[in-house]
Formats: sequence, structure tokens, C-alpha cells
Amino acid sequence: MRLIIMRLNSKRSRYLAKHRTLAWLRRHGMPIVVMLLTIAVILHQGSTRIDLWLLDGLSELKASPSSDDIVIVAIDERSLSQLGSWPWPRELHAHLLDRLHGARAVALDLIIADPSPQPESDLELARAMRRHGHVYLPIVVENAEGKPKEVAPLPALVAAAKGLGTLDFERDSDGLIRRFYLHSGLGAPVWPAFATSVLGTTRKAVPPGSMATLDGWARSGERQIPYFSGKVGYPTLSYVDVLGSTGNIDAIQGKIVYVGVTVRGMGDVYRTPVSDMPGVVINAAATQGAMEGSLIKTLDADWLTWLLLCPALLWLLVHPFIRPTSVLAVGCGAALALLLCSVTAYFAFRFWLPLASLALILLVSVLVESIIDQQRFKKLALTDALTGVGNRLCFNESFRSAINMPNGRQRPIGLMILDIDNFKLYNDHFGHAAGDDVLRRVGSVLLAACPRKGLAARIGGEEFAILLPGAGKGEMNAVAESVRANLEALRIPHPANGGGIVTCSVGVVCRAVGAEGNQRELFVEADEALYEAKKNGRNQVRVAGRTIVPVSPAAA
Ligand code: GH3
Ligand code: MG
Ligand code: MG
Repeated sequence: MRLIIMRLNSKRSRYLAKHRTLAWLRRHGMPIVVMLLTIAVILHQGSTRIDLWLLDGLSELKASPSSDDIVIVAIDERSLSQLGSWPWPRELHAHLLDRLHGARAVALDLIIADPSPQPESDLELARAMRRHGHVYLPIVVENAEGKPKEVAPLPALVAAAKGLGTLDFERDSDGLIRRFYLHSGLGAPVWPAFATSVLGTTRKAVPPGSMATLDGWARSGERQIPYFSGKVGYPTLSYVDVLGSTGNIDAIQGKIVYVGVTVRGMGDVYRTPVSDMPGVVINAAATQGAMEGSLIKTLDADWLTWLLLCPALLWLLVHPFIRPTSVLAVGCGAALALLLCSVTAYFAFRFWLPLASLALILLVSVLVESIIDQQRFKKLALTDALTGVGNRLCFNESFRSAINMPNGRQRPIGLMILDIDNFKLYNDHFGHAAGDDVLRRVGSVLLAACPRKGLAARIGGEEFAILLPGAGKGEMNAVAESVRANLEALRIPHPANGGGIVTCSVGVVCRAVGAEGNQRELFVEADEALYEAKKNGRNQVRVAGRTIVPVSPAAA
């Protein structure tokens, strides 16, 4: 007796431990998945495709027309066909600069780092730059055997330039160019960006603020370029036309003039959210953003990590206190709030907070959670909590749908009802908890014997049933007998029952319901057969109308 109780207790504690683990997973599982995905987003440097998609949408909404203050002098196909193949003699640039007097600033977006074969032409260009007085030149960073290398213009040109600035754009994960750095340089971000230098930024000012060093190349002040509304580009003059002009060119008076290559084949065309753009136009757009104060600030890596971690952490902490039925609504609300934060920060503060991916992760997680919960509730509503077989509701529903399916009334339906013999005496002897354990074991016997197409259910206190739509009489009787025999084979001690072990009696019916019949008739027939089995000595299967299995020797 003590042994039985100890066995029951250890089974019960295993069951409770499993139950506790499942309950813990249900409470914290999805928020932990949210947290893990958030960490993945952080490792992906914050801006996923979804964020970039939102950013492009916002920047399209906010896009302003291209500024009239910027004019582009394009080294285009026509100029190349008339002036010969690239590179051109540098005195051509010198002549061009002489035509550009009156421009507020000239951004000569060309890399002139190697001396020309005719040193005189370099000097002539330097003199033209001095004559103009407002010419700006770019510094580029090159990859020299894995190390960044600053490539500056020729010293004579540096001396003649009004200002220098770096061309430091960054490609996003989708290969598009959207951002640049206000300051960068080797070791320290001492140079302004070329795009902002033309606005008169001091030439060598170490900027305040954080500094991101990448293998010696330091950057600070990351900004998103607010591209203009695509269709209207900057007023553009062909290099060759400017060169050939005489007198003042009205179009450039008081303007910032960008001189650069616009021909596709020359390698200075990049993908942007608007279209493929020559580098010179991207620089012009960045200059316009700086001029109009519409550059979009971004968060540095540390802040970005906190921006994403905090909401995920909050969700993890708050989630257990939210009612399961409210999780979907609260999660959707939180996702919407994150998106609103992103949109508000963009429009009101010109700040880009990449929260769209987190919002999506949250949304999908609460959707998955609510689908899982619904399935669980549905299963719970149809399952007997003690034994794990179907409950009475499940039995009734299955019976009804078996009858209502096409040809369901013509097809035979097998039904067996099982009742444990002298179970009240078992409870009286071993107690209710031990009785419950027997019920669980009977449930397991039923589940094991029930074919896949059938349903095992607990339809009353210690009454069970198996429903087998489409079963032949032989199959149904065999199932019923195997349940009876398997329970008997467990040899669960029951001193007050025949044979001293737990047994059951079974009533079986197997026939088509017919056009006028109903499930109740079948049920009554099986119940009557069960009554006959009890009356006839218990531990036996009785088919409606006849006994097919003799009384087992154990019960005799
Ligand atoms: P018979 O062989 O004629 O069926 O005798 P019986 O004692 O099994 O039948 P009776 O209807 O007199 O008693 C059924 C017993 O089943 C009474 C009740 O204590 C027990 N029972 C019903 N539901 C539960 C339950 O959920 N847990 C436990 N432990 N016992 C239950
Ligand atoms: Mg009973
Ligand atoms: Mg009974």
C-alpha cells in the first residue's frame, strides 16, 4: 500500500514539474523569442530592410524639391565626345573655373591627386583656383592593403583651395547610399564632409561628439540624406557648353556649382532610394540638406542598442502580468506606439529611430502567441483534464459530425461504452486520489487501443467511450475486447472486485444510424449492452443483442 502511494506521489511530482515548465514557457516563451530576435537586429547594426523601407517611405513624404541654389556642371557624354576621352588636360578645368566667376562656391568633385605629365597644367589649375577664390576639393579614402589611406589633392591645389572635405558615404545593407558623415579622417575625424565644406565649414576643426573609429578611419556625425523628390533634378549645364560660353553665365550667379562626372560608364554612379545617381548629385543633395537643415540625425551604436533592448526588455517584464486574452491588443498597441515614435522623431526632431523591425517582431510574436493560445483553449475545452482523452462535449461534437458528414447516416458507426467495475469500492478502499490515477490509466489504455480515425472520450465519472465512424462490426468488437483485456492485464490491485484486480465492463453497438435515427438511439443501445454486461457478471464485452466475449477467468 505504502509502495503504491509512493509511486503515485513520484508520478505526480513529475507531472507537476512538466506542467510548471510548460506554464513557464507559455508565460515567457514568446517574449524571449522577441528578445533574441531583437539582439539579432542589434547585431545586424540596427537598420534591417524593414527599417530602411520605412525610412525611404518617410523621406519620400518629406522630400522637398531640389534647391535652385545648386547648379551642376556635368562632365557628360556630349562633353566627352567633343573634348576627347578622360582624363582631360588640367588647363581645361582651369578655363572652366574662369567661366564660373560669380558662383558662390565651386565644388570641383574630381580627384586630382597625381601630378600631370605637364606640371605647368597643374600650376595653371592652381592659379585659376586662386583667381576664383571659392573652389573646394575632395579628399577620398582608399583601401591600401587592408588599411585606409587618405588621398588628398596635389599640394599646389590644396594650397589654392578655399576648402577641403572628405567623400565619405556609407552603403546600407541593401547596397543603397543614404547616409554620410559630417566629419571623418585618418585617426581622428578632422575633415568636414565635402558636401558641407562648400558651405564654408572651417577647414581643420576637430568636431565635438562621439567618434567611431574603423581600422584607423574615424568618423562622426552620421546623417541621412533627405533626397529631393526625384522628378526634378538640379539645374544642369554641360561642361563643354560652360567652357565655350563667353561673358557671364546667369545660371551660376550666386549659386553653389558642383562640377562632376555624370556619365554612367565612368564608375561614379551609385544606387540611392530615388534612382541611380552620379556621386556629384548625391553630394549636391547632401549640401542641400545641410543648407536647409533637413539632414536626418542618427543614433550611434551604443544608443541604438539601448533603443532596441529597452522595449524588448520591458515586454519581457510586463508580459507575465498581461491577461492572455489581452496580449494581442496590448502587443499591437505597443507595436503601433513604436512605429509612431519612429515617425514622430523623424518629422518633429529630424531623428531616425529604426524601430520598425522591432515593431514587426512584436506584432508577429503576439499574433503567433494568440494563435497558439486559441488552439490551446480549443484543445482544453475539448479535453478531459484528468485523463487526457476527449470530454463529453468532444464526444457529442464528434458523434454529430460523424452523422452529418456526406453518407454519414448510411455508414456504420461503432460505439463502445466502458464502465469500471465496482469503482466506488476502489475509492472507498484506496481513496479518491488513487481512484483518479486508475481513471488516468484507463484513459491511457483507451488511447492506445483507439484507431487513428476514432475518438476516445470520458463521458461521465468513471464511464468512457470509443467512437469509431466507418468501423466494421469485427473491428469494433476487437477494439472493445482489447481495451477490456489490456486493462485486465495491468493487474491493478482491487481487493473488492472479482479476481482482486481493476476490470471494466463494455457495451458495444455497431450500425448505421439510418435516415430517421439519431445518436441517442445508438447510445441507449450501447448503454443497454453495458447494463447486460454488468448484470452478467462484469469484466466482459457485450454487443447490443448478444455477448461476444465470455467472462474472463480473472473475473470468475
Ligand atoms: P459498477 O460496477 O456497477 O459500475 O459499480 P461502481 O461502484 O463502479 O458504480 P457506481 O456508479 O456505484 O460508482 C461510481 C463511482 O465512481 C462513484 C464515484 O466515487 C466514482 N467516481 C466518479 N467520478 C470519479 C472521479 O473523477 N474520480 C474518482 N476517484 N472517482 C470517481
Ligand atoms: Mg458508472
Ligand atoms: Mg462502475
